[in-house]
Amino acid sequence: MDNHHILLVTFPGQGHINPSLNFVKRLVTRGVRVTFATSLSAIQRMNKTTPTPQGLTLSPISDGYDNGFKAEEIEEVMTSLQIKGSRAVASLIHASRDEGRPITRVLYTTLIPWVAEVAHDLHIPSTLLWIQPAAILDIYYYYFNGYADVITKNSCDPFCPIELPGLPLLTSRDIPSFLLPTDSFKYALPAFKKHIEILDAQTNPQVLVNTFDALEFDTLRAIKKLNMIPIGPLVPSAFLDGKDPSDTSNEGDMFQKSTEYVEWLNSKPQSSVVYLSFGSISVFSKKQREEMAYGLLESQRPFLWVVRKTDQYGEKVEHEVSCMEELEKQGMIVPWCSQVEVLSHPSLGCFVTHCGWNSTLESLVSGVPMVAFPQWTDQGTNAKLITDVWKTGVRVTINEEGIAEREEFKRCIDMAMGDEEKGKEMRGNAKKWKELAREAVKEGGSSDMNLKAFVSEIGN
Ligand code: UDP
Repeated sequence: MDNHHILLVTFPGQGHINPSLNFVKRLVTRGVRVTFATSLSAIQRMNKTTPTPQGLTLSPISDGYDNGFKAEEIEEVMTSLQIKGSRAVASLIHASRDEGRPITRVLYTTLIPWVAEVAHDLHIPSTLLWIQPAAILDIYYYYFNGYADVITKNSCDPFCPIELPGLPLLTSRDIPSFLLPTDSFKYALPAFKKHIEILDAQTNPQVLVNTFDALEFDTLRAIKKLNMIPIGPLVPSAFLDGKDPSDTSNEGDMFQKSTEYVEWLNSKPQSSVVYLSFGSISVFSKKQREEMAYGLLESQRPFLWVVRKTDQYGEKVEHEVSCMEELEKQGMIVPWCSQVEVLSHPSLGCFVTHCGWNSTLESLVSGVPMVAFPQWTDQGTNAKLITDVWKTGVRVTINEEGIAEREEFKRCIDMAMGDEEKGKEMRGNAKKWKELAREAVKEGGSSDMNLKAFVSEIGN
């Protein structure tokens, strides 16, 4: 093992860095040396309270935006990251050779397919680490392989059915938002197209997927051309297999260590608290925040609500609501928390989530039922899987203006936490998936075996 040296290059988003670093931790405990590269600005944001594990070297890439950037600059950032990142990855590969510790495999996450091209030019094998569900890779694969019309045919009707082989029956609101003709994030689709082209050009393309076999048995096998290998869920060990009890946080987290909300959770009865958090990117309009706030008040349940005061680029965002005083009597509002710790707390009753893939997996691993309020990218698909396939959650319906109203939040929260059959079923399923996730990563479990096989293969 000692001769393996992996270079893992990650897109500088929280949702990419967290699972990547959880994967790195598993690799280094198996004796693999790892160099982890992402933008300098992201490395600077990372939680420095835990020491860097032995065998891991952090390698910042100066992408031209070292002090962060504004949301509207994203297209330029993507171009600059590709140009400067390609050079940085090539020099890392050369330097590792010169030092006598050559990189034997390159791994890369979504949105940065150029990493595979750099590796290819320097004759190093590379593998995609897919940090979304297998179902999403299936959908993108279909889109670029003859199904684009099927997927987008009637996308202005959110309930237009879409049939794709090996996938549950989807509707337009369930497909990744980047595929919708109305999507304004022009950088994303070409990146996914490139990913698919790179995989299509290989004879037996392997993709490591942050999921587990039981969770996505059919979707992992839907595309015959792709060898999708589930190695997840990539969640800190202390909340999953317990192999490393000291592994209690996502290193990518930017949270300030606080015990205040943990003490507050400790003071609440078992399964009583509504937890609301919408990841590192999504922000809501004033109207939407108000509806959510009044929905919480009407639910009359204690809640912990993560309301970020800045966006992912550090820019201030509007976050006020008019009923703050009443809210603070009933629950607690924090700017950020250690989500894995919160979700595993016994007082948690349900998770109102944007269905980011990490949040979804963390909730499944903790056995917490979800109220799904998807916003963009893969989240609509994830919401579909949560509600109709794994049946551990209920989806919030939005009105014609795109707003989820207070009564709807109350209805969904009551369903997830109340005594009706549907709620009981969701909570029962949540427990089931929690167990199955643990099964997958334990010694001899499916993800554990897949990871072992991957590690032994990279040396060959
Ligand atoms: N997270 C956290 N504290 C918070 C909110 C989020 O630690 O207050 C973490 C969460 O545990 C997850 C990540 O941030 O690992 C968010 O990733 P996800 O894929 O759910 O959403 P994204 O941020 O990509 O939209």
